[in-house]
Amino acid sequence: MAKTVLVTGGAGFIGSHLVDKLIDKGYNVIAVDNLSTGRSEYINNKALFYQIDITNIDAIKQVFQVHKPSTVFHLAAQISVSRSTREPAFDALTNVVGTVNLLEASIENGAKKFVFSSSGGVVYGEVDEYPIKETTPFAPVSPYGISKMTGEYYLRFFKREKGLDYVALRYANVYGPRQDPYGEAGVVAIFINKILKGEKPVINGDGEYIRDYVFVDDVVNANIRAMEYSGTVEVNISTSKGTSVNELFKILKSLTKFNNNAEYGPPRPGDIRKNILDNNLAREKLSWKPSYSLENGLKGTIEYFKAKVKSNGPG
Ligand code: NAD
Repeated sequence: MAKTVLVTGGAGFIGSHLVDKLIDKGYNVIAVDNLSTGRSEYINNKALFYQIDITNIDAIKQVFQVHKPSTVFHLAAQISVSRSTREPAFDALTNVVGTVNLLEASIENGAKKFVFSSSGGVVYGEVDEYPIKETTPFAPVSPYGISKMTGEYYLRFFKREKGLDYVALRYANVYGPRQDPYGEAGVVAIFINKILKGEKPVINGDGEYIRDYVFVDDVVNANIRAMEYSGTVEVNISTSKGTSVNELFKILKSLTKFNNNAEYGPPRPGDIRKNILDNNLAREKLSWKPSYSLENGLKGTIEYFKAKVKSNGPG
């Protein structure tokens, strides 16, 4: 009989790709999402979908009681750093209480593995040595970073006290098809959308902000490896390579044959200067490695947005 797995955030950018992959691999997939930023059209029609909020513990527990998932992939979250600073209680409710609800439901219903989407972009804060290793102490500077870190502390508690195995995946900057260009996190999607409309992208600050861009398919594969891994581990999911926003724009410019230059705007307050994550531990423990170069991942992403512009019309 096919194994049943549950994906929270299954209508979101990364979660919807993960659901697709799990369905392809023959799993029974339960997708949970409140559709706050996720989209119903992204949900694979072979998944069983529940539109519920992870802060609603009764509804969550009901789903677990009915389906008894063996693995829980927890991706649902409030993902905006700036919203977390404006509404820290809302952030904590979704990201901390929501996570604890899922952990409790997992324990009560016999789940074997909890795969948590953490963020290597925010839990370490600003550091002196790059690429950042998992042994670097937590030093988050935003409520979003604090809530992701706290989620990881709860994972440790539930492992220690209740024996629930988990894998915490600390993603770098994830990009790819279905990334939301209207949000504030997706510089790749924002630039591609502007370029395809023939408009000049705006680079915040001097464009020398360095990020580690990892393609969504590689992140999905990391989730699959995490499910298959027997044991508990906390790993970065990244390329270990840094790319500045200026370099990113240059690559996009050449891939799209865009003739204009970018405009420069004021820096975004609170943006950390540099984030590059060491991925050796994921290679060693999960036998995972990124298989997309930035150029290849960007090619796929550009094709997706081109097709979208065609089907929606410009604007
Ligand atoms: P996303 O916003 O596309 O996905 C999050 C999903 O969670 C959405 O579909 C949303 O509707 C759902 N959701 C939000 N609050 C909910 C609630 N209270 N109840 C039920 N569903 C709720 O974002 P994403 O980029 O796909 O992020 C997925 C996960 O990966 C998140 O946990 C995020 O923190 C983490 N992450 C993402 C990145 C990145 O670069 N995209 C980097 C690090 C970590």
